[in-house]
Amino acid sequence: MARVFVITGPSGVGKGTLIRRLRATHPELRLSVSATTRPMREGEEHGRDYWFLDDEEFARRVDDGDFVEHAEYAGRRYGTLREELDRHLGEGAPVVLEIEVQGAAQIRETMPEAVQVFVVPPSFEVLQQRLEGRGTDGADTIARRLEVSKVELESQHEFDHRIVNDDLERSVAELEAIVEAQLPATNGA
Ligand code: ADP
Ligand code: 5GP
Repeated sequence: MARVFVITGPSGVGKGTLIRRLRATHPELRLSVSATTRPMREGEEHGRDYWFLDDEEFARRVDDGDFVEHAEYAGRRYGTLREELDRHLGEGAPVVLEIEVQGAAQIRETMPEAVQVFVVPPSFEVLQQRLEGRGTDGADTIARRLEVSKVELESQHEFDHRIVNDDLERSVAELEAIVEAQLPATNGA
């Protein structure tokens, strides 16, 4: 049984949306709160959405070996804290990591038993529309994320599972099927 699920894919593809829907039906899945050096967005909370660290503290924690994986994405640093992952796993809970593709590649090396899902946009245009429609990022940030997405999409075939997130209900069902195949049956199912 896998206990770590990695959900990756370009920014704006719908990872967060899919994970929210998955956790609504599978509340036993814990979401690992990552660390980042990017500025906090309106409505975000330290410790809930991310652990927001400055560059110096992030670098120190890299040197201290505190990260399971970490990467630079669009000029900012992001990483999964070992203590965060171990806390959930230590409580016997399955954990979801929502991370970009370089981090996913590191997890593949260090935790080959983790299940990896790459979420694919229906098209580049739709990805752009979703990033714009989400309203969380300025034009420069969106342009940068779209540039990065071209490189990210090239690695989609390295992943065990791919979900083309066009129809949300279908995508949620596909993700549930992938995850349910790895979890112990519940409610007599
Ligand atoms: P990510 O976490 O990958 O950056 P989000 O989950 O924030 O992406 O989704 C980006 C935007 O796209 C959000 O506004 C979300 O509501 C929308 N979205 C996600 N999935 C779909 C879908 N299947 N169809 C239409 N819109 C979607
Ligand atoms: P955002 O700035 O939109 O919150 O996240 C930008 C990108 O960083 C997304 O693709 C997101 O999945 C990724 N990300 C978030 N946390 C981590 C992490 O801990 N490690 C890695 N490698 N990527 C992360």
